[in-house]
Amino acid sequence: MSEELKSYPFCGSNDVVLHEHADWVTCRQCWGEGPYAETKEQGITAWNTRAGEK
Ligand SMILES: [Zn+2]
Repeated sequence: MSEELKSYPFCGSNDVVLHEHADWVTCRQCWGEGPYAETKEQGITAWNTRAGEK
């Protein structure tokens, strides 16, 4: 674990998971999904960037 996932801004849940065999993040509370990315690190970055926007 090198990077930390931020909570999902649309429902405020911290119950978010990075898919093991894919490269995007899902909120397990409302099943909202983050942006798709080419690598897991990019998926985390994309999630955190979007999470930080609002
Ligand atoms: Zn959610």
